[in-house]
Amino acid sequence: MKVTEHIERANGKPLFSVEILPPLKGQDVNATFKTLDPLVELNPAFIDVTYHRQEYIYKQKENGLLKRYQVRKRPGTVAICAAIQNHYKIDAIPHLICGGFTKEDTEDALIDLNFLGIDNLLVLRGDPIKSEKSFVPEVGGHAHASELIEQITALNTGNYLDDELQESHAMDFCIGVAGYPEKHFESPNLAMDLYYLKKKVELGADYIVTQMFFDNQKYFDFVKKCREMDINIPIIPGIKPLTTFNQLTSIPQNFYLDLPEALAMEVLKSKDKERIKEIGIEWCIQQCKELIDFGVPGLHFYTMSNSINTKKIAEAVY
Ligand code: FAD
Repeated sequence: MKVTEHIERANGKPLFSVEILPPLKGQDVNATFKTLDPLVELNPAFIDVTYHRQEYIYKQKENGLLKRYQVRKRPGTVAICAAIQNHYKIDAIPHLICGGFTKEDTEDALIDLNFLGIDNLLVLRGDPIKSEKSFVPEVGGHAHASELIEQITALNTGNYLDDELQESHAMDFCIGVAGYPEKHFESPNLAMDLYYLKKKVELGADYIVTQMFFDNQKYFDFVKKCREMDINIPIIPGIKPLTTFNQLTSIPQNFYLDLPEALAMEVLKSKDKERIKEIGIEWCIQQCKELIDFGVPGLHFYTMSNSINTKKIAEAVY
């Protein structure tokens, strides 16, 4: 079922959804089920699976020359989505990115997803990989999520890359996109980021999932600005608790967002690992309660591979 239908059917009750990483190469599918089993008890409406592009590493050969190898630490997004749908009968949502895909690769991936009965996609550009200074699109691929949306909406009306195809099957994907309450790191300002977000909506996005934030006011302001610009699709807040001391620096560094002073100071004062976790979880519970009072369509938890923290928070707020 489409995310938009899940929201409609919930009739104002906020959905619970989670986002996981596919297993590391070398692990089996049970690693995913182990993460998901405790969360499935809480009836998630859908489960997102992130996509991880291949990186390049260089190794010296015996003759002294460098050889380039392609490595993908977490392959298997599409297969894990299929496994989740089969095992739990819950909608799985693969993340689909521009990076590393030609338009033909994208079309083939979408055909697979359609055959597998996947109804939803989270459509993204993808981040630069380590060997890139800034994002480099694949030759013959897409430079922005908006271009990828255009390809999907074309397939949704039966238009494949080969325009000589006759009576081709129209797909019917529901399209989610990313939104950034504290703006995307490359954007010169929030207004310009919202201009491009609106473009994604005009091209066919059906719902937005936000980057994580720790200050609800950032989300409230973001929603207000979106509505003023006639961006009227559901905006699902992305949620993650801060649970370690190191995240005081790694979260702002990796996700380009601010941590509220009150939260950061309390963590800074505490020396105890368990206490820091408690502080972060308690902060997140308060955040979720306030977001539910605001009337959010759902709470989307970035669980990564840690289901215990997400479970604690969800049990306290649902
Ligand atoms: P875009 O919408 O293309 O925007 C990128 C930048 O370009 C922004 O600054 C925007 O303002 C600007 N822009 C947008 N359209 C245009 C245009 N037409 N012309 C000029 N400028 C434009 N990454 C992964 O690799 N795998 C994942 O699974 C993954 N999951 C994510 C899930 C969520 C909920 C979020 C919020 C992010 C996720 N990311 C993931 C990270 C994401 O790929 C990065 O944040 C990436 O840098 C931007 O992706 P986007 O889809 O927002 O890009």
